[in-house]
Amino acid sequence: MVQPYKHEPFTDFTTEENRQAYLKGLKTVEGYLGQDYDLFIGGERISTEDKIVSYNPANKEEVIGSVSKANKNLAEKAMQAAVEAFKTWKKTKPEVRADVLFKAATMIRRRKMEFSALLTKEAGKSWREADVEVAEGIDFLEYYGRQMLALKDGVPVNSRPNEYNRYHYIPLGVGIIISPWNFPFAIMAGTTVAAIVSGNTVLLKPASTTPIVAAKFVEVMEAAGLPKGVLNFVPGSGAEVGDYLVDHKDTRFVSFTGSREVGLRIFERSSKLNEGQIWMKRLIAEMGGKDTIVVDSEADLELAAQSIMASAFGFSGQKCSACSRAVIVEDVYDQVLNRVVELTNQLTIGDPVDTGNYTGPVIDNSAFKKIMEYIEIGKQEGKLMAGGEGDSSKGYFIKPTIIADLDPKARIMQEEIFGPVVGFTKAKNFDEAIEIANNTEYGLTGAVITTNRAHMEQAREDFHVGNLYFNRGCTGAIVGYQPFGGFNMSGTDSKAGGPDYLLLHMQAKTTSEMY
Ligand code: NAP
Repeated sequence: MVQPYKHEPFTDFTTEENRQAYLKGLKTVEGYLGQDYDLFIGGERISTEDKIVSYNPANKEEVIGSVSKANKNLAEKAMQAAVEAFKTWKKTKPEVRADVLFKAATMIRRRKMEFSALLTKEAGKSWREADVEVAEGIDFLEYYGRQMLALKDGVPVNSRPNEYNRYHYIPLGVGIIISPWNFPFAIMAGTTVAAIVSGNTVLLKPASTTPIVAAKFVEVMEAAGLPKGVLNFVPGSGAEVGDYLVDHKDTRFVSFTGSREVGLRIFERSSKLNEGQIWMKRLIAEMGGKDTIVVDSEADLELAAQSIMASAFGFSGQKCSACSRAVIVEDVYDQVLNRVVELTNQLTIGDPVDTGNYTGPVIDNSAFKKIMEYIEIGKQEGKLMAGGEGDSSKGYFIKPTIIADLDPKARIMQEEIFGPVVGFTKAKNFDEAIEIANNTEYGLTGAVITTNRAHMEQAREDFHVGNLYFNRGCTGAIVGYQPFGGFNMSGTDSKAGGPDYLLLHMQAKTTSEMY
């Protein structure tokens, strides 16, 4: 019998045993740095001349590996493989499909430290951030496997005398999975397996900055018993392969996680009917955030400061859920701001391979440049209280940065920076704080630090975000516990890791028989 779902525990790296286990994982990763990975199409490994090279953002000289790069012809070959495989995979029993996920979860759990170390090397994640991400990836496999088992017989509906009605779910078809670099394992794996376990076949296009961890995951899925053509691995340029696949007449749905800009482009393109296409494509799009922590005058101010610091600067603020705005009621503004500055000045920054460092690098040179430009804008719009400097000589390091006294409409308070920068603004009272919190075009996460129960209930109703947290930070949603997804320009609110998620990859069929 399948055991009830429980989330994967996080590793305590203060114990020597766990530290050694991570270092062993790191050795394994160092043993395969620089290797070349093929495309995987219809069960066939295909190597191309053209490669995507992945570098360590903490050490630009270090090559993590390279992957073959799909072009339009290879994307077409992958599409045909997926169309063919769908004919049998859609009829494969849900139990069998779920078993592949459970086996893959076990295989990754055995190699947990290796996957964590790979995330440290390829994405610049600290040991802790990497460990949490691998746990999340395992959770997606375990949770979606169980969700499919729960859905396999459909949902009961009424029947009149002499009538037998049934209502059940069937898969959609071929899906295009397009994933971001900031959770290059968990989001890539989660979006892929949700589609697969629901009976669809997919083409996976990972982010070009972090393709190696995706290649390793595809190997695991093959070893776990996934039939040929169900998961096709097609790294390539978003603009070339991405557009081609989104436009394709055989694409039934697109599952995208990434920026607002690319999400909107896919939204528009996927709504156009192409020759030979006989359906309206479905789109699951999870996009950016501009997430706020509100601090009330009646609040545990130490908790507020710790929550802002951790949510703003964990993984250098490169989470869609990261706190990039702190809105503080004026009576406690100075106190909270000064404490966050104090905590921030204690943070160590450097190569995340060294566990002493709290924050690592930002992902690449273009992110570095963009964030540094925003810091300059911030200095004009507000008051620089901490950080403000970057160094890209060896890797792409930016000091955790605080800009205070901002107007709520300032660019620093409105635009997604996606780096270690948090803006502070003052509110006259709690009502105004919630108003400011809602004044962006995004609506992904938010948190309220308060001891006032009425204010909590007010925020529950009025703070318009997909994930709202009380008396904690605004990052760190757990699969099956805090389903994740946002409103407005943050996307289609698909709620990854939630009870409705698989249904987005299926369609319901009603059958009715008279006796
Ligand atoms: P991105 O630049 O939008 O890229 C995301 C993916 O889209 C990549 O695989 C990219 O490929 C691909 N892509 C680019 N152009 C495309 C096109 N024309 N057609 C199809 N695909 C295309 O985002 P990112 O920088 O990787 O990720 C950061 C963003 O993701 C932030 O905005 C963050 O808030 C958001 N995010 C949201 C969530 C959520 O759940 N709401 C979670 C994580 C991240 P290339 O790499 O080849 O360009």
